[in-house]
Amino acid sequence: MDLPRRTILLGALSAGMSGILTSPVRAGPGLVGPLKQGGLIIGRLEGEGTVALDDKPLRLSKNRYFAFGFGRDQGKEALLSVTWVDGKVERIPLAIEQREYQVQKIDGLPDAMVTPPAEVLARIKRDNALIGAARARDTEAEWFVQGLDWPLRGPISGVYGSQRILNGEPRRPHFGVDIAAPEGSDIHAPMDAIVAMAEPDLYYTGATAILDHGHGISTSYLHMSRMDVKVGDRLARGDVLGAVGKTGRATGPHLCWRLNWFQERLDPQLAAGPMPS
Ligand SMILES: [Zn+2]
Repeated sequence: MDLPRRTILLGALSAGMSGILTSPVRAGPGLVGPLKQGGLIIGRLEGEGTVALDDKPLRLSKNRYFAFGFGRDQGKEALLSVTWVDGKVERIPLAIEQREYQVQKIDGLPDAMVTPPAEVLARIKRDNALIGAARARDTEAEWFVQGLDWPLRGPISGVYGSQRILNGEPRRPHFGVDIAAPEGSDIHAPMDAIVAMAEPDLYYTGATAILDHGHGISTSYLHMSRMDVKVGDRLARGDVLGAVGKTGRATGPHLCWRLNWFQERLDPQLAAGPMPS
């Protein structure tokens, strides 16, 4: 199931023709991925040069691959600029498709359910610092060109971008995709990775792992019942990293799966495509 998709992805990149964007001016970058909010985009520079998104330089791998993504609330426009080795600059405006997200209003909840107790605030702050540091890693691996496999199969029980308004207060949107599965189901690495974080007990998300796929592309695994990896472990695509659980603040066993480009939260479902049956 996985091989054809991978071949197509690499084939399209090598040929520099993505069907999404090809530069009419020069042999510009080939891009693969949805130009929409939550989208992960992989590109390859067809020549010597440097590339930047909205003036932020993008790391080029030894095979001149680069990656970037658009967050949930990304605006309609972004600018990719390529500076070729001869000094010529190519500016490529990108039109970003805007999405609509599910919003759910729930009123009349007791306040204790809405606000975390004061004594856990320090712990939450520490957790967030660990997560932020793991996602800030900028490593030279180009594993992200493999394309994402689903880490396990099961019904989708929560989607990216959805938001709840509790007692009139908008809460943080949901940034992952939730996959319902029995407690103890194996979770597989969606592509090659190095383990960037493996914490047994975060306040909100329980046992939580973060995998680094290179160039700031990371995936996160929340609420696990079992952690099989430690920081620094090298994983091949398909390796088991842990098991589905409901640790932290979760009501039932599921995998909350997340995808990031550095701190920018992307939609794993868009990147992985339809789940194979
Ligand atoms: Zn979730």
